[in-house]
Amino acid sequence: MTSKLRVATLSLAGCFGCHMSLLDIDERILDLVELVEFDRTPFTDIKAVGDSDLGIVEGGVANAENLEVLQAFRKHCKILVAMGACAITGGIPSMRNQLGLGECLMESYVNGPGILNPGIPNDPEIPLLLDKVHPIYELVRVDYFLPGCPPSADMLWTFLTELLAGGPIGFPYSQIHFD
Ligand code: SF4
Repeated sequence: MTSKLRVATLSLAGCFGCHMSLLDIDERILDLVELVEFDRTPFTDIKAVGDSDLGIVEGGVANAENLEVLQAFRKHCKILVAMGACAITGGIPSMRNQLGLGECLMESYVNGPGILNPGIPNDPEIPLLLDKVHPIYELVRVDYFLPGCPPSADMLWTFLTELLAGGPIGFPYSQIHFD
């Protein structure tokens, strides 16, 4: 690829740690903005995704809004990347999958320790929770998976620069071991 890559990023049910890791490329961000232009991303606060070459997703799918946003994002992105454990497996938010949704809500808002005003939130503005948290590949096609919690800044940098160079993407062992 010779022209600038148009990149969009999205955070679903995650902690923004993967996006923070992307910012951890430090001064290389200056090189990055020479190579890419950003579409929707928390970095620009653009809320609607336009047609993009690359879409990077952090977080799993926990509620109806996550699902709707992810499906629209997939439609607009030629290449879709699952960034980090939450997008790839559901991660920490998917720990609630051990319980039924009703049991989970009761434990969180009614029966759990230290709850002063028990009651399950039901404001119509709150997105409806799905019965379980899904990794994104269960719901849309995913082209690349970047493991880690979060993937390191160096790993993200290697991925972006090798994708831009158009070559096969490979990582040194130092960037993909988690022991
Ligand atoms: S993979 Fe880790 S760092 Fe990334 S969103 Fe999930 S919990 Fe946060």
